[in-house]
Amino acid sequence: MSTPEIVRTQHDLRGQVREWRGCDLSVAYVPTMGALHGGHLSLVKLAGQHAHKVVVSIFVNPAQFAPDEDFEAYPRDEAADMARLASTGCDLVYVPRPGSMYKAHHATRIKVGRVADGLETDHRPTFFEGVALVVTKLLNRVMPDYVIFGEKDYQQLAAIRRLVEDLDMPVKVIGAPIARDEHGLALSSRNVHLDEDGLVIARQLNGIMHTCAERIRMGHEVARATAQAKTGLLAAGFSGVDYIRVADPDTLEPVLHGHVQGQPLRLLVAARCKGVRLLDNCAVRGLADAQG
Ligand code: AMP
Repeated sequence: MSTPEIVRTQHDLRGQVREWRGCDLSVAYVPTMGALHGGHLSLVKLAGQHAHKVVVSIFVNPAQFAPDEDFEAYPRDEAADMARLASTGCDLVYVPRPGSMYKAHHATRIKVGRVADGLETDHRPTFFEGVALVVTKLLNRVMPDYVIFGEKDYQQLAAIRRLVEDLDMPVKVIGAPIARDEHGLALSSRNVHLDEDGLVIARQLNGIMHTCAERIRMGHEVARATAQAKTGLLAAGFSGVDYIRVADPDTLEPVLHGHVQGQPLRLLVAARCKGVRLLDNCAVRGLADAQG
């Protein structure tokens, strides 16, 4: 395994994928926005377990950033990304030229409903439209057999599953577990913006979230347990909690009140720490599940 090749045009990308297909080789694909860390690399490794060849794309997608968000400030370092991808099993890196993705006359929008309504959309109303659009375009360009998304962005993964199924896209979506640092903080490209104090605060998110999930599993009332967790996050130093919500793991239908009766559920959190918005989530295993 060595440094993967880079392609920057659809022509070169398709040429390489066509050549592999001609040799009966399957392709798994990992879309990223770069600023690669261990979470991305775990997706690349998982991709290699599913297919003969692995493509990674690096593209900071302007369509998923609102005008007041950090598109310009989003960390970018292609050389460092390429170094990280060496010896991971990645065969090809696709770095589309920024101007090639959305031409001046681009007019198509894609809106995933239901699963992509609420939670993130309450705070970033056009985010999933931007994600659905770029993922559709990238899948049409790469045409992989498998595409890998992280559970770290759980609602995004659920929305992509819906998109792929609803539009009959010929690709299998694979979810990858959340990669965390040794203190339990979910790895994220935006963690580089946390100073030392911020890191100390951010690292409490995972524990508070798991305590909340455990309380719900043990039969505590959902609204009470999530309110306690919110109080805990604010006391830990988070400046705000956008949501802490229990939901069905597939449809993301919220469970706002009551006692959980053993059905599988997901706990999803978005909280702000020193200007950095952190996402995390975990399973609230039902009582029946928890026996195993
Ligand atoms: P991004 O570059 O942030 O768009 O992320 C690209 C892919 O990596 C998405 O599918 C993310 O869900 C996934 N990802 C990011 N961080 C992690 C992590 N800590 N663990 C697992 N997957 C991750």
